[in-house]
Amino acid sequence: MSQVAPQQQKQKPKKLRMRSELYDVSGSAAKLKNRKCPRCGSVMAHHSSGQPRWVCGSCSFTDYAPK
Ligand SMILES: [Zn+2]
Repeated sequence: MSQVAPQQQKQKPKKLRMRSELYDVSGSAAKLKNRKCPRCGSVMAHHSSGQPRWVCGSCSFTDYAPK
C-alpha cells in the first residue's frame, strides 16, 4: 500500500506554475484570490486542502482563514 503513483501532476505549463497558484481555480467559482501578504505585500495563494489557509509564496507567511 506504500506505492502511490504520482498521478496528481496535471498537465499544465511550467511557465505558469506560479500563476496557477495565484489564481486558484480548483473547486467551484473564484474565491478571494487577491489577498496580499501583510508581511511583504505579495499576492498570497489560497489553499483549501485541509485547513483553509493563505500562503505567501514569497516569504512563506501563512494565515489560516477563520471559519
Ligand atoms: Zn509574504
